[in-house]
Amino acid sequence: MNFVSENLGVNEQGHLTIGGVDVLTLKEKYGTPLYVMDEDMIRTHLRTYRDALNTYYNGNGLAQFASKAFCTKYMCSIVAEEGLGLDVVSGGELYTALSAQFPADKICFHGNNKTKDELTFAIGHDVGTIVVDNIYELEQIDIIAAKLGKVQNVIFRIKPGIDAHTHDFIMTGQIDSKFGFALETGEALSAVEAVKDKKNICYKGLHCHIGSQIFDVDPFRETAKVMMAFIKEIKDSLDLDTEELDLGGGFGIRYVESDDPISYDLYIKAVSEEVKAQAEALDISVPKILMEPGRSIVAPAGITVYEVGCVKEIPNIRTYVSVDGGMADNPRYIMYGAEYSAVLANKADKTSDCTYTVAGKCCESGDILIENAKLPKVEVGDTLCVLATGAYNYSMASNYNRIPRPAVVMVSGGQDKLVVKRETYEDVIKNDL
Ligand SMILES: *Cc1c(COP(=O)(O)O)cnc(C)c1O
Repeated sequence: MNFVSENLGVNEQGHLTIGGVDVLTLKEKYGTPLYVMDEDMIRTHLRTYRDALNTYYNGNGLAQFASKAFCTKYMCSIVAEEGLGLDVVSGGELYTALSAQFPADKICFHGNNKTKDELTFAIGHDVGTIVVDNIYELEQIDIIAAKLGKVQNVIFRIKPGIDAHTHDFIMTGQIDSKFGFALETGEALSAVEAVKDKKNICYKGLHCHIGSQIFDVDPFRETAKVMMAFIKEIKDSLDLDTEELDLGGGFGIRYVESDDPISYDLYIKAVSEEVKAQAEALDISVPKILMEPGRSIVAPAGITVYEVGCVKEIPNIRTYVSVDGGMADNPRYIMYGAEYSAVLANKADKTSDCTYTVAGKCCESGDILIENAKLPKVEVGDTLCVLATGAYNYSMASNYNRIPRPAVVMVSGGQDKLVVKRETYEDVIKNDL
């Protein structure tokens, strides 16, 4: 059997396994819907990034997990144990990290509209780096840091003029994005210049992030080139040294058979060659390189387990299979038509020769998980698993229709462990007055 993620298999009973654990056993123990994550695979991915950055940048690199992909206390502790940094984009993510005793100096705080409260919280807790998005924020950071008697390290978010949100990438003169400072207009350079008279801010470097689910190395190389040239410009015209260059995340993963990602370390190698070549050509030193992978660390490690509640055939049109979850636990189809593949965990050894549309239980006709999923003949009570749901599923889940969020279970070394409890109806009403 070939699945999109290599941690999935089929045992003698014909059941789907994840990290060697029978999915039906987990269903029995924890109920459905259920997020299951393979901790061993997550750790392997974290180590791959950590080691590749160390190798290709001679120890002067750091991978930071983009926690928005999957943010829980347990995940933050895994990241800390493996020695990576963490990227957070809100007070809530920062609070989660600090609650897990994540080392603050290895946290990088993002966002295009951080509130004063969030900035005060971050600076007060000695967050390692704040990624400055706009000039108002730069001023706020200086004021808040002064009030707290701190000097805050910052890097600037730059729009490198490369847009790679799709399978192709485009270079535009002026990208239309709410994030960061534009290069071509001189906005970026004057923002960096503005740091010079800010006593409570220390300039560390630059950041960029060109998109997500990218399969091609070229846009990343092109971005590295643009950023290195800007570092040179900053040196020449402002006489400022850039110690850090954060190249963001965005590496693609396999959701469906046709997705063809390259291995992460090959990508890092290719980009490092570009960075080093540019450093030599421009006669500047290679900065510390940071990266922020999110999806590629956790997405392939997770599945969502559902039970089939009804099968509805609409003759000559399609057959709907409805499961006991949907857009509340996975809004990615309804938000942007994301594609997934599915397996029947109790019939994992059977041939997938039927076509179904897998629908959720929410009151929206767009509440679909997969259109035209290939599955064996589906019956009520079957256990349907959507694959590669480890990123942007739990973290994007809602209580729409007042549906309690599912539990999250991690498997490791053949053992399972509950890391997020299933919400109860009590949880759903707990803030109602
Ligand atoms: C979303 C995001 C990431 C992570 O992107 P992935 O596609 O999950 O790897 C990294 N950095 C920034 C600034 C982001 O917004």
